[in-house]
Amino acid sequence: MTGEQAGQPRPGARAYDADEDLPGDPACLLRRVCPACGSVADHDPPTVCPTCHAEMPGG
Ligand SMILES: [Zn+2]
Repeated sequence: MTGEQAGQPRPGARAYDADEDLPGDPACLLRRVCPACGSVADHDPPTVCPTCHAEMPGG
């Protein structure tokens, strides 16, 4: 034994990486952005913009 105490949390150690695997990935939301008015639809396309009712065809 060296005298170090095991089981102590290391300084700077985090329980989880908060910046990773967030729900609502912005990349997924881009396809929901209305090309006409820029609003974000409630659902993935194909759908209709809830603001201006423009058609948003799926990719
Ligand atoms: Zn729109």
